[in-house]
Amino acid sequence: MLLEYWLIIHNLAKCKILDDVMCHCCKRFAETPLHAVWDCGATQDVSVGSITSLQNWSTCCHDFRDLFESLMDRLQKEELELFLVQAWQILNQRNAVIHGGHLREPGWLNKRAEEFLDEYRNAQMVFTPSNESSGSCIWRAPLAEEFKLKFDAAVFSNQHCSGFGAIVRNSSGEVTAGMSVKGPYVNSSKEAEVLAC
Ligand SMILES: [Zn+2]
Repeated sequence: MLLEYWLIIHNLAKCKILDDVMCHCCKRFAETPLHAVWDCGATQDVSVGSITSLQNWSTCCHDFRDLFESLMDRLQKEELELFLVQAWQILNQRNAVIHGGHLREPGWLNKRAEEFLDEYRNAQMVFTPSNESSGSCIWRAPLAEEFKLKFDAAVFSNQHCSGFGAIVRNSSGEVTAGMSVKGPYVNSSKEAEVLAC
């Protein structure tokens, strides 16, 4: 996705739709995927400053794919996940700079990346599917040209909030729409179910 994004940017520049392809942060080099998340002096300390395996690591990569393959060899799964969230944070910040904002310092970007990753991992633990049967109800598809809506609510006491989700299936059982949203803190699952309605 990252590579596709930059190909589009370069093609727009080639067609004179964009002024140039120079990095908006350091204004010294062309803004390639490799430059943006790894080589740029403005963001160089983000990953190296927080992922121990990257400290004192000298690598010479031709492009982002080359870098990513090297990282897959060097980093543990958790470290690679942190790097990817950091890369996403860096890209968000670069967009902010393009639209008049300021690039945050590496320490701030690292903290936000770790918070996002913690939040994601906690959510995975909360939503780990259970193999236990939740009852004797068997879902049946609606009749042809009809749709079936199913919704549910959950209480997350440790995060002081609730969550609501809904899904729509057609007569083949295929999902045609789905949504989830964070809700306010509630005292019980009954209260959450009432809000979901
Ligand atoms: Zn740069």
